[in-house]
Amino acid sequence: MARSGVLHRKKEDLVKDLKETTLSFKTLGQRYGVSKQAIYEFSEKQGIKRPAKPEGHQIEDCRLCQKLLQISKEPHSEFISNPTIVKKTEVPRERCLYHLKRLKERGLVDEKFGRLRSERAEKAYAMYFTKRLSIQAIGREVGYKSFYSIIQRHRALGWGIPPPLYVYDGQERSRILRGTHRRKKAVGGGGSED
Ligand SMILES: [Zn+2]
Repeated sequence: MARSGVLHRKKEDLVKDLKETTLSFKTLGQRYGVSKQAIYEFSEKQGIKRPAKPEGHQIEDCRLCQKLLQISKEPHSEFISNPTIVKKTEVPRERCLYHLKRLKERGLVDEKFGRLRSERAEKAYAMYFTKRLSIQAIGREVGYKSFYSIIQRHRALGWGIPPPLYVYDGQERSRILRGTHRRKKAVGGGGSED
């Protein structure tokens, strides 16, 4: 309450600072004795257009960065290929990648976002995440000799790839379960046997 009172009294000064300086919300927060979030919300509420910093750009005000952030929040966005991301932003590739780099530097998007190069891999993963098809069937569909080896390679590089939606038939499943059970036993069995 006391804090918003301070903000209220100094409202005009703050509006002036927001409109005429490129001081960060954090700095302004310190100046006015409130959180940077409070400054941000005040600025939004007042509909203030902040001047661009001459030496760089403000991610909050950059439409391209905002678009990239939006894409990065799509499900499995790390499996959207680089060319598709560029297409979605509708700007030249170099420009798109510059802004993507800025976002990564700030840790605002995952390090893997935009790293997948192959549109074919993107297509295969999109099917993998949404369709109940075997890995072999997806591979055939997109023209991979072995989609499985691609998955293995991405896993090794640290990509989080969930199990397939494909439900194996009874025989296949029991074979796999037996295999898993055996492995678990071997791992969890303690040191007595080996
Ligand atoms: Zn930007």
